[in-house]
Amino acid sequence: SLSERLESAFKQLKGEGRISEINVASTVKEIRRALVDADVNYKIAKDLTDKIREKALGEKVLTAISPGQLMVKITKDELAELMGGTEAELELKANPTVILIAGLQGSGKTTFSGKLANFLKTKKNKKPLLVAADIYRPAAIDQLKVLGEQIGVEVYSEPENKNAVQIAENAIKQAKANGNTVVIIDTAGRLAVDEVMMAEVANVKAAVKPNEILFVVDSMTGQDAVNTAKTFNDRLDFSGVVLTKLDGDTRGGAALTIRYTVDKPIKFVSMGEKLDTLDVFYPERMAQRILGMGDITTLVERAQAQFNEEQAKKLEKKIRQNQFDFDDFREQLQQIKKMGNLKDLMAMIPGVGKAIKDLDISDDAFKGIEAIISSMTPAERSNPDLIDGSRRKRIAKGAGKDIQDVNQFMKQFEQMRQMMKSMNKLGGKGMRGMPMR
Ligand code: GDP
Ligand code: MG
Repeated sequence: SLSERLESAFKQLKGEGRISEINVASTVKEIRRALVDADVNYKIAKDLTDKIREKALGEKVLTAISPGQLMVKITKDELAELMGGTEAELELKANPTVILIAGLQGSGKTTFSGKLANFLKTKKNKKPLLVAADIYRPAAIDQLKVLGEQIGVEVYSEPENKNAVQIAENAIKQAKANGNTVVIIDTAGRLAVDEVMMAEVANVKAAVKPNEILFVVDSMTGQDAVNTAKTFNDRLDFSGVVLTKLDGDTRGGAALTIRYTVDKPIKFVSMGEKLDTLDVFYPERMAQRILGMGDITTLVERAQAQFNEEQAKKLEKKIRQNQFDFDDFREQLQQIKKMGNLKDLMAMIPGVGKAIKDLDISDDAFKGIEAIISSMTPAERSNPDLIDGSRRKRIAKGAGKDIQDVNQFMKQFEQMRQMMKSMNKLGGKGMRGMPMR
């Protein structure tokens, strides 16, 4: 992966006392190769590494950091700059704000439309209307309806109408009548760039004059993603890019190159199929991810979004009074699950992404534990000390588990409680706001 390659390039610098022309040259060459292999176009990779070299040579190496660390920092800053520097917000002033979604078939438009509606509803206090303007596949309407139901957002469709422009216009009329503040128009895509599709989206654009046109692209398609972006931008002059399928260890090439090529900001990144896994695109964080530095900021934000102050205080109090029980434990598990896919979450921790990339860590990991807790009586859950040998047997049976599984889980839970107790004795501060330690 790109981050692994860059890491090994930086390792060459280890132990060097200062940055010299010679060792910068070889590191920079390695960075360039790693970027090209990650599908970054050669010219961009060269421009970028030229800048990195210039900066590195101009820099004094402070004793506190190694030349390798300094190169990582310089590279991170340059990568972030290449991706736009700062985040780009959606333009949401118009009422209703009309957002047109465009991109190839399978890029994730419909999924993103659902995620965006959910994001605008829950984070921006908007009342969105989703519009099914994919007139070619009847299943597309149902897909959007299912998404709309999950997030409690209305979906506009006209199953009999084969005119995407009319559907979009009618939807906006309805939105105005019903007080919807955002209209998200999900359009049809083709497997490859195709004139009929382009003309159709362009016609919708001309008719409804959207406030935002978001181009959705599958980040796993590398250099193709960049070419497609260019074609769509030439025709639609879109206002922003959405990178989908950025889950796990996707190559960073698309994120790095698209901004530079079309000079339009990446506004969102989509990771996974859960509807609450849409993130605003932060160039700095993406640069950190590409370099394998993890993305702690996003992780903490996800945690904060799921974990409200009141719950945190209640939990803190229970921990302080040594009253942490199985009900609390189960609540914690549920919070973590709501934050998104476990593997994606762990990958945001610096250094962990690489270590777990081949492991099968699914949300099923929690299932056994949840079954065990569910098999307890309310009295047992709130008073773990009650659980003796015969109760353990009964719990195991109810959960469809072996007694050893229950014993092991009880042991872990007890260790956790002991740790909490000893932290309380130390008078540890700062438990607030963090789910489970
Ligand atoms: P559309 O044809 O552009 O509307 O694409 P869809 O929204 O129907 O998505 C195509 C496929 O990609 C579906 O199976 C989605 O579940 C999947 N998908 C969409 N977004 C993501 C994502 O961010 N990550 C992953 N892993 N899959 C995604
Ligand atoms: Mg679709």
